[in-house]
Amino acid sequence: MTVPDTSTLHSINPLTQQTLASYPVFDLAQLDVVLPQVSAAQQEWQLTLAQERSALLRSLAVVLRRRREELATLATTEMGKTLISARAEIDKCADACDYYAQHGPAMIADDSVTLDNGRRAFVSYQPLGIVLAIMPWNFPFWQVFRCVVPAFMAGNAVVLKHASNVPGCALAIESVCREAGAPEHLMRTLLVPGHQASALIAHPLVSAVSFTGSTDAGRKIAATAGQHLKKCVLELGGSDAYLVLDDADLDLAVEKCVTSRLLNNGQSCIAAKRFLIDNSLYGEFTQKYAAAFARLSCGDPMLPGTDIGPLARPDLAQDLAGQVAESVRLGAVLVYGGVRTSDDSTDAFYPPTVLGEVRPGMPAFDEELFGPVAALVRVRSEDEAIALANQSCFGLGSGVFSRDEARARRVAARLQAGNCAINDFVRSDPRLPFGGVKDSGYGRELSHLGLREFTNIQSVVIG
Ligand code: NAD
Repeated sequence: MTVPDTSTLHSINPLTQQTLASYPVFDLAQLDVVLPQVSAAQQEWQLTLAQERSALLRSLAVVLRRRREELATLATTEMGKTLISARAEIDKCADACDYYAQHGPAMIADDSVTLDNGRRAFVSYQPLGIVLAIMPWNFPFWQVFRCVVPAFMAGNAVVLKHASNVPGCALAIESVCREAGAPEHLMRTLLVPGHQASALIAHPLVSAVSFTGSTDAGRKIAATAGQHLKKCVLELGGSDAYLVLDDADLDLAVEKCVTSRLLNNGQSCIAAKRFLIDNSLYGEFTQKYAAAFARLSCGDPMLPGTDIGPLARPDLAQDLAGQVAESVRLGAVLVYGGVRTSDDSTDAFYPPTVLGEVRPGMPAFDEELFGPVAALVRVRSEDEAIALANQSCFGLGSGVFSRDEARARRVAARLQAGNCAINDFVRSDPRLPFGGVKDSGYGRELSHLGLREFTNIQSVVIG
């Protein structure tokens, strides 16, 4: 048996399996040196005015835009997303910096309250201290920036523990902050493997945890955070249901459902994953959906014509193949794809695949499919569609297609999901709170609600 090398993190190109770079892991014995430095930087930072914090965010946006090509290339070569989508990810980070630079000061301004007998009071939003960001690889910049940007605006410092397969992106984020003029130590990247991260959560100088990742890891992190009574926001997995009702615009539904399913080579928490299609539209939807998948070009994610690159790691492609095979064994119909060109344990590609007649009890219905595989489910009524949508441990995103907006809104209100799109697909947006219910986690990111998750909401009464 090979003993895993836990002293080094490797950056491996999923297209070629070549090691791009290797980095020594952070020595946890140094935590008591580094975290006091971060804490000191945070205590200075919390004394700054909102305008100074906005200036840092604007500067971050400038640096991100200046280094766009370098950062996007790094993401593509470390985790396989197409270069086009990686550029869009960097743009989104820069836009979020601008958004919070402009609107953040109002989000942290005091709210006045008048009490009885003319007494005055206000609610203020004070930083918590050091926010530990434990992040996944799938949007290696956006996941981090959507935590860091509001955290800075609120006066917090951030320590990043990124996924082990994107160490280059993790270090680049620290360097972007430095180049933008962030105070020294206000944002630190620590290259720590997942199984050692509990030491960070437990450290007395860490005030709160922002975790994005799988449900299994989320449970462990929440347990450790709970043991130490630390505030925790969990953004976990999803198996988002999209309901195609009998009065849907079919072509629109197909277009949006294909696009959403394939976001990021199919590796997005809020990708549409289960499609609950009214029986009257099921045949035509399936045919048009499969035809759209057949037009996709798979290959080198650096090339402009590529729609789908490799998954982030070969083991992820193998897991997905297992979920598809088991679903077919249990009665799902392989409508398109499903055959890998190689079973090689070093091949990270999984072909775009459409499964039909998916039912509860199959992995394609019950579990998250993290890759370009769509699960089509036939339903015979609106009520059945809603019941099946909610028959999931997850509750992150959802969608409803109907030409009747009032009807779609009634349906949306019955869906157990933190986000819903009507005649569209779910995207994260700094103006809207983002998060889930059930096994998709708790708490929110983005908007003023996400920013305030990592504040001490302080009531002050003036006698
Ligand atoms: P993962 O849970 O394996 O890893 C995420 C992070 O947690 C990594 O940094 C990892 O090193 C760390 N980690 C793993 N086990 C840990 C432990 N026991 N203690 C502390 N840290 C630990 O997830 P992944 O494979 O990197 O990402 C894919 C998952 O993330 C999918 O399930 C996806 O749906 C989810 N995700 C959710 C959102 C959201 O906003 N809800 C966004 C993106 C991804």
